[in-house]
Amino acid sequence: MDDARFPQLRSPAADEERLPPPASFVEQANVTDESIRREFEQNWPACWKRAATLLDWSTPYDRVLDTDDGYTWFDGGSLNAAYNCVDRHLEAGRKNQAAIKWEGKLGETRTYTYQDLSREVNALAAALRDLGVEADDVVTVYMPMIPELPITMLACARIGAVHSVVFAGFSGDALATRMENSNSEYLLTCDGYYRRGTAYDLKSKADNACLAVPQSVEQVVVDRLGDDRSLGDDYHDYGDLVADHEGADVDPVARDADDDLFLIYTSGTTGQPKAVRHTTGGYLSHVAWTSHAVLDLEPDDTHWCSADVGWITGHSYIVYGPLALGATTVMYEGTPDHPERDRLWEIVERNAVDVFYTAPTAIRAFMKWGSEHPDSHDLSSLRLLGTVGEPIDETAWRWYYEHIGDEECPIVDTWWQTETGGVLLSTLPGVDPMRPGAAGPALPGVEADVVDATGKSVDPGESGSLVVTRPWPGMAASLCEGADPGADSPVTHGTGGWTYRTGDSARVDRDGYIHLLGREGDVINVAGHRLGTTELESAIVGVDGVAEAAVVGGDHDLKGTEVYAYVSPRKNVSATEPLRERVREAVADAIGPFATPDTVVFTPDLPKTRSGKVMRRYLERITNGEELSDTSALRNPEIVGELESIVEDIS
Ligand code: ATP
Ligand code: MG
Repeated sequence: MDDARFPQLRSPAADEERLPPPASFVEQANVTDESIRREFEQNWPACWKRAATLLDWSTPYDRVLDTDDGYTWFDGGSLNAAYNCVDRHLEAGRKNQAAIKWEGKLGETRTYTYQDLSREVNALAAALRDLGVEADDVVTVYMPMIPELPITMLACARIGAVHSVVFAGFSGDALATRMENSNSEYLLTCDGYYRRGTAYDLKSKADNACLAVPQSVEQVVVDRLGDDRSLGDDYHDYGDLVADHEGADVDPVARDADDDLFLIYTSGTTGQPKAVRHTTGGYLSHVAWTSHAVLDLEPDDTHWCSADVGWITGHSYIVYGPLALGATTVMYEGTPDHPERDRLWEIVERNAVDVFYTAPTAIRAFMKWGSEHPDSHDLSSLRLLGTVGEPIDETAWRWYYEHIGDEECPIVDTWWQTETGGVLLSTLPGVDPMRPGAAGPALPGVEADVVDATGKSVDPGESGSLVVTRPWPGMAASLCEGADPGADSPVTHGTGGWTYRTGDSARVDRDGYIHLLGREGDVINVAGHRLGTTELESAIVGVDGVAEAAVVGGDHDLKGTEVYAYVSPRKNVSATEPLRERVREAVADAIGPFATPDTVVFTPDLPKTRSGKVMRRYLERITNGEELSDTSALRNPEIVGELESIVEDIS
């Protein structure tokens, strides 16, 4: 379809392409029964029982979903998350199996068996109690990717305390805002961490945060740098606390299914960070179920999710999902290119990783660095690959499929959010064919739709807002509210029934596969055509020599908006006029001449959040010559000045 009036319609051929899951994978997959979607449709919510049966409950629940006053999943039931992630695996004879395999920044490794994990979680839980931590108290955890981070989360869960993990890359101010907001009186942190071999101080940031908040704070500090420096009387040394409580046996506190397990602040791509609360029963069932059905994890598997535990992805798919199932989870402290650009593949090979889960931003970096790095390792242990965090364009998808999966691993492109707790949209890898560039259908038991401004479903091929139209177990506590959730809530109980607005724009194809087009704000309106940034960018990264691209709208006197493309070339490719021309042609071919970028700006890098997402909001401001006051949300703030001067030169 090259009718310029319908820029969202892509050629049917692209939509109809389907790759069946590799037969060798299907043979062993956890979920292979094609009738599973129908079953859920016919008997919802009873089918969600499946998720809950993956857990051990202290008190069985009365009803899967209670709707008397808002939504309560597994109402009447109680359970303990740490018991589910640790103790029951000991009882099942897995005590000598590795629970956590840690890969440190300086090349160190540490393995915690389930037995080791149990010992340290119990000791720390006892120590926290001695410090005064009680059920429902909020314990802030500000640590880099060290094993003490998940251990602290589990120790909190054991005694019913609510953890609030703050990503270690955040500033002391950001930490203070979050501690004050959650009225947290306990902080577990560490002295510092290494980055590319250099030691960085974390403790002074933590100290500044404690000074800035009104409440008084008990601080526990892990000695990560190994310098045994004396902390003085105001601090508790993590190692001493654990040693003093060695051998403790703390009864896991049974939590009601809808009691909080943790709170987490969103990464803030779209604005102010907000606290999201997750419940014990619904959340844990959801992440256990999706780890089983989507990531295909089994107890004998080694799973590696390369996210940071400081984000929801790490909570759900490094810590709670894999450990609930009794698998081995890999935790990597370092960066993907240090000491060499094959670091991740070396870790996959050495640990015989079965399932690898990462983000498109990482895959684009691997592509930029070249396939010689994965090619030089034996990656044959891999069985399944996953991606999350942003739309993945077809080019990156294929590269991942070929160079990492050797065309033998299915890829699950999993769509979800901090608010959803776990995956909602994805193919089931043992059931559904894959479609590069589309996340896939809603999971069984999940109902999603793409609607127009009036809430009406759009036709296949057209774009609209992605909404979820039925509750799911991992939903954030704030989405569970009853009849009138308030004007700010993304949830409505209108005549069309219950609806959660996700804030993402999307398009459904004829088979019900959902293609994510970016955030609703990330739509550019060119001369009346609404263009999703993702589609423009997919066309651009399809050009040989291009590694990454981000497209934004710039103000234009006549057209209203013109298209600016920020393009970063691959390694050893220079930014030349012919490359610029190829970028423009690629967009004209894929979408239509009207969408051709007016300006193509070459840049070595794109501004990214600390969780690795492209910050189009900032690019838009740079494009329009607006001041950027606060770049603290960025991982690479230095690129902003560079881009500002490039843009100034060309305008
Ligand atoms: P904030 O909500 O504070 O603005 P954030 O939305 O970036 O921050 P997350 O909850 O981590 O924080 O990210 C969820 C968003 O990531 C989704 O709304 C979607 O835009 C994007 N996303 C996640 N997975 C996918 C995927 N597989 N395909 C496309 N987009 C995805
Ligand atoms: Mg969000």
